[in-house]
Amino acid sequence: MGRRRVGKAFGEMLRMVWARPVTVKYPFEPAKVAGRFRGKLDIDPAKCTGCGVCKNSCPAGVIEMVKIGTRKVGDREIENRRPVFDLYTCISCGQCVDDCRFGALKLTGDFELAVFDKESLVMKKALKIVE
Ligand code: SF4
Ligand code: SF4
Repeated sequence: MGRRRVGKAFGEMLRMVWARPVTVKYPFEPAKVAGRFRGKLDIDPAKCTGCGVCKNSCPAGVIEMVKIGTRKVGDREIENRRPVFDLYTCISCGQCVDDCRFGALKLTGDFELAVFDKESLVMKKALKIVE
């Protein structure tokens, strides 16, 4: 009985010597995430129209619409706004991505959100408009 167990353990040990590792040497090797992983939010400023739908749909209050100027529509002067995202409080739910009908938003595979200052997680890319 004892010998059989030792033999079985020895066989298992030999098998593991040749087996591929199941862990990744992160951070020394880049960790791979699943295809549908919801990581850091990103915006394509060229596609954003400043409609503000994302702000209204965000359950975490992450998005603030910031005035960047005005534009003429007929006789009226309309405020031009673009979203600023406080990614520190973003829960990566994807609601804003689903609701943006201009396809300006996406959740990336980037999961490295540890920072020393919260300010570096405030995404202001959309304030630079591509006309
Ligand atoms: S990101 Fe999309 S939903 Fe949000 S303001 Fe821009 S166009 Fe509108
Ligand atoms: S992913 Fe969710 S929590 Fe993050 S900004 Fe979009 S709606 Fe808000």
